[in-house]
Amino acid sequence: MNCDRCQNTAVYSRRYSGENLCSECFSDSIVRKTAKTISKYGMIQNGQRVCVAVSGGKDSLAILDVLSKMSRNHNFSIHAVTIDEGIHGYRDEALGIVKNFCADRRIVHSVYSYKELYDLTLDESLKLHEEDRLSSCSICGILRRRAIDHAAKKIGSDVIVTGHNMDDVLQTFIINVLSGDTNKIGWQDPAAPGNTLRRVKPFCEIYESEIVFYAFTNNLPFQTEPCPHMNEGMRTEIRQFLNTLEGKRSGIKNSMYRSILKISQVMRESNYKQRVRCANCGAECTGRVCSVCKMLLDLRQ
Ligand SMILES: [Zn+2]
Ligand SMILES: [Zn+2]
Repeated sequence: MNCDRCQNTAVYSRRYSGENLCSECFSDSIVRKTAKTISKYGMIQNGQRVCVAVSGGKDSLAILDVLSKMSRNHNFSIHAVTIDEGIHGYRDEALGIVKNFCADRRIVHSVYSYKELYDLTLDESLKLHEEDRLSSCSICGILRRRAIDHAAKKIGSDVIVTGHNMDDVLQTFIINVLSGDTNKIGWQDPAAPGNTLRRVKPFCEIYESEIVFYAFTNNLPFQTEPCPHMNEGMRTEIRQFLNTLEGKRSGIKNSMYRSILKISQVMRESNYKQRVRCANCGAECTGRVCSVCKMLLDLRQ
């Protein structure tokens, strides 16, 4: 079977559109779609230094690869940042992968650790934590978010790019609905302006399965071993549920995504809260103390 766009052999069938593509045209379609998402939501401005959060997994290496291709003919520069959570026997492999990847492509890369920021590795904080209050991924997520903010400020960047794809957005939406957290639905609006720092997900309109194929067909050297603390709560069940639906009804993820766009915009406009400063650390937040300080105080009690 030939590619719909050139004479090469097709290696990918995009079920929701019916297109058949060769490896090159497929990769090209991912780069173009990402560029379109970035410009539609004004995610990156002219001349900006972009902080790319890179864990070493497929999504983060794929976004770094796509942005490094784009940066050749767009006016922005990229700086990769990896957060070392302090997960014994796990993080070192990913750090090595990211270092080599960045060296090959001449991308600037920095590493920041939980230990230097919080004086606590993830392994140590999980030991302090009572089971079943928060999942390990929730604790780690709160700490990582702040660590990346810190890194972005250090490198003088005002936009943070993460590799989250459409499946992540859909799963998060369902989790927010199931936990009654309508404020967080407002935060999902991709057009939401940041305060001093803006966080953007240029893969938010691309299926996870296509990112996986992009990583394979471009031979990206990502880490496949899952984190030993992986406990995502409900997320895994929701991922499987959505994949089953998509398998029977191609394109259903795209329609759900369009609904989320509309709902999140309405929620953001109706729930808009003035940001204030955390009484403890001075970070921007919406309550008296920020989520990081609240959690660290709880852990150390
Ligand atoms: Zn082709
Ligand atoms: Zn704080």
